[in-house]
Amino acid sequence: MADADPDPGRWGDAIIEPGEQRAHFLTMAESPSGDGVRLPLYVCRGERKGPTVCVTAAVHGDEINGTGAIRQIAREQPFSVVAGTLVLVPVVNILGFERHSRYLPDRRDLNRSFPGSHKGSQTGRLARSFFDQVISRCAYCIDLHTAAVRRTNFPNVRADMSDPAVAALARAFGAELIVSGKGPKGSLRAAACEHGCPTIILEAGEVWKVEPSVVEYAIRGIRNCLVFLGMVEGEPTEPPYRIEADSTKWVRAEHGGFLEFHVGPGDIVNANDMIATNTSLLGDEINTVSAPQGGVVLGMTTMPSVVPGDPICHIAYARKGTLRKAERIVNALGGETLHERVRGDLASSMLVTDAESQPPAD
Ligand SMILES: [Zn+2]
Repeated sequence: MADADPDPGRWGDAIIEPGEQRAHFLTMAESPSGDGVRLPLYVCRGERKGPTVCVTAAVHGDEINGTGAIRQIAREQPFSVVAGTLVLVPVVNILGFERHSRYLPDRRDLNRSFPGSHKGSQTGRLARSFFDQVISRCAYCIDLHTAAVRRTNFPNVRADMSDPAVAALARAFGAELIVSGKGPKGSLRAAACEHGCPTIILEAGEVWKVEPSVVEYAIRGIRNCLVFLGMVEGEPTEPPYRIEADSTKWVRAEHGGFLEFHVGPGDIVNANDMIATNTSLLGDEINTVSAPQGGVVLGMTTMPSVVPGDPICHIAYARKGTLRKAERIVNALGGETLHERVRGDLASSMLVTDAESQPPAD
């Protein structure tokens, strides 16, 4: 882990005292007019000593569910920090955010550019500036993402489960699903973990939206992590089940057509369960798409028109026994639970029907 920050109250030219919480701006880059590009932060300091933890959102500038979660934490204060320092960064990629874009104006991906370089491209310099001013001072980081454009994700934590400190933080979040992996080279989490700042990401919902149940899910997980780190008092909230997957697979369309879905994000599927029926525009069935193995639907396309090769459904594979147990638990859950509300909300923007109600193929 990175050495403890010797001065956790100093952010730019601001001094934030123990027990104090407020907004501040850090200058990260320069605009064409020569003005500073400023990044908003919200810093909450507990009265007692503890780790410095940052929660970041919109490293991809169009992925703003986490931005909504951070705004809600700053406005409504759903928990209070009693120890350590919580640094909330609602938008890391401020230049992409202003253009509703994943990328920076130089068309690079900030989340492939960490830790960055002072002598590099615009994106590389922003990455370096953020890494030096924020990440290098943090003991832990939670980075909030969504699915890419035209897809949605059931909330899942991604983390390098071979690193004990990262694995502990990932489990503390309390997600049903953890997908193990180091993350792409140049991603904030890969670079931060390498630097000694255990970092996990949450992948939840869609781009360009603040989805209420996804925001609730993110805040619950952030609070759980802060409870685990001794920064917030209380008990963590347990998920209904836990699955840790180290392999996932996109099921792709084999034919062009127009999809009617039979599963939604977060659904548990068994091998050969039908995922979608692929029809012509007037409804004649072309073919069906089924699950190659049992698992949990991690993500789906929200775009029903497909050509061969288009991704339809991202499945996290799980062991049969674990899956059966999770299925039994989910079948007994009430509709008012967060798990069921998230599943219902994410499926509401796509047509999901029972596979049995399909007319038989010719
Ligand atoms: Zn992302």
